[in-house]
Amino acid sequence: MQIIHRISIDSTPEIRRELATMGIVVGASGLVTFEIDEAYEAWPALQSWITRRDAFDLISTKFSKKEITEARWLALEPGWQHGYPQPEDTHIGYRTATYDLTDFCEGCSLGLKQKAPFQMKAEPRWGRRSILQLHWIHDEFFVTPEIWSAIFRPHGIGCRPVLNTKGAELKTVVQLVVQEEVGVKTEGLEAERCTRCGRPKFLPVVRGPFPPLVTEPSSHMAKTREYFGSGGSAFRGILVSQDLARALEAAKVRGASFTPVAEPG
Ligand SMILES: [Zn+2]
Repeated sequence: MQIIHRISIDSTPEIRRELATMGIVVGASGLVTFEIDEAYEAWPALQSWITRRDAFDLISTKFSKKEITEARWLALEPGWQHGYPQPEDTHIGYRTATYDLTDFCEGCSLGLKQKAPFQMKAEPRWGRRSILQLHWIHDEFFVTPEIWSAIFRPHGIGCRPVLNTKGAELKTVVQLVVQEEVGVKTEGLEAERCTRCGRPKFLPVVRGPFPPLVTEPSSHMAKTREYFGSGGSAFRGILVSQDLARALEAAKVRGASFTPVAEPG
């Protein structure tokens, strides 16, 4: 596991000099961006420099193949977003068409409950991919009917149709239906509580593995009970079993990646 920091700052001759003392070479003006692994020997010095200079620091984690193949559970992460849920005039359009808004809160975006099929503008342009996420919808995955039949159906995962905006069923895409919910151990996670509805939302974990689960899901795919995100974004984690992840890898399914779920300590 490597913790990677993607650091950006408006450079100056002084900043260039400071970074050079830590072995990092950047230009003396304009926006500069560089990536550093926390294992880098000058990391401790650089870390305090980031704080002092208030540099922009985007953190991500790279997992080894071994870490991914040894995890019992994995978070399924989108490799791309393709298209917008319809009608897309505003967020209101697709929300009222697709969701029951009884428990929805405008403050934190929690509480959407799907009541109708998603609508897309047209058949997805899949290219060589066969799994996708729509923009704005971070906790639903869509796949080709072939991949659903070959991989998800044998693992007990259901699907539902996707419509175009005229109400006709699309032929090359289905939505995966994830029925099981599982709790996440939230100790140590940063949370924000909505001032309107009082419900908590956890900041997405970007450093290290996905937080451990409270119980072992009984099916091959589950959604977290907890919501993640910040501000107006709210989504639940989507988890897959090692067995399902292996089937996706073996079939060379493109369009998503895996983050290992930590074992309960
Ligand atoms: Zn709220």
